[in-house]
Amino acid sequence: MLLSDKVAIITGGARGIGKEIALRFVQEGAKIVIWDINIEELEKAKSEIGKFSPHVSGYKVDVSKGEEIEKTVEDVLDNFKRIDILINNAGITRDALILRMSEEDWERVIAVNLKSVFNCTRIIAKVMLKQREGRIVNISSIIGLIGNAGQSNYAASKAGIIGFTKSVAKELASRGITVNAIAPGFIQTEMTEKLPQEIKEEMLKRIPLGRFGTPKDIAEVALFLSADASRYITGQVIVVDGGMT
Ligand code: NAP
Repeated sequence: MLLSDKVAIITGGARGIGKEIALRFVQEGAKIVIWDINIEELEKAKSEIGKFSPHVSGYKVDVSKGEEIEKTVEDVLDNFKRIDILINNAGITRDALILRMSEEDWERVIAVNLKSVFNCTRIIAKVMLKQREGRIVNISSIIGLIGNAGQSNYAASKAGIIGFTKSVAKELASRGITVNAIAPGFIQTEMTEKLPQEIKEEMLKRIPLGRFGTPKDIAEVALFLSADASRYITGQVIVVDGGMT
């Protein structure tokens, strides 16, 4: 077991990549705490993951709101006593070309994708500092590295996560806390399901490994970055995109 009794918070873990990370981590003995805004999916995920472990809990949290995070961290500490791993995974898209993008779409994407990473890290790092160990894994995107027409808000949020990861890694390294990011390519989840078929076909042509990624492809890397094997790695961005970039 690579994560025996480790307590892991996974934001946006009710479905998609986050849920797969939760499923992978319970197999390695972790105690899972899912934070998600989607209560229906959260209940489904809890019962699905609960088949493999009794140590799964879920909290309805909007990670764009600092005060909700503060309060939920207190509850988690009351129940679990410690927090070993934070996976900052919650994310949304609100696509539009720049001239048509509303200020609201810009602000919501930055708040859910980037401000949440700041707040979760700021609040949970305090707990990890006392423990003198911890693992933080931030889910960025290749769009934060290469950009994409129609996704300037999303790209800015995901590029922001990379700068944030590298800075905080330097601040927390001396206290035994590693901070890394994963930049997934095109991964088959509900987020990408809604894209038009012709865009998907075009994307597939640009993937040298010849297939879209699966949430499991990301979960394996999240496991590596959360387990002891990666103890000497911090401030890095691991691209998981089938060779696309
Ligand atoms: P997903 O299937 O849409 O799942 C995201 C989960 O996060 C959903 O349950 C969603 O709830 C929840 N969420 C949304 N806003 C939230 C908030 N304010 N507070 C708490 N939870 C919230 O997405 P995914 O494809 O698994 O993506 C996971 C992460 O990977 C995201 O950060 C995404 O940007 C990144 N990523 C994905 C891909 C890809 O190809 N799929 C590629 C690169 C990076 P709702 O159902 O209510 O929205």
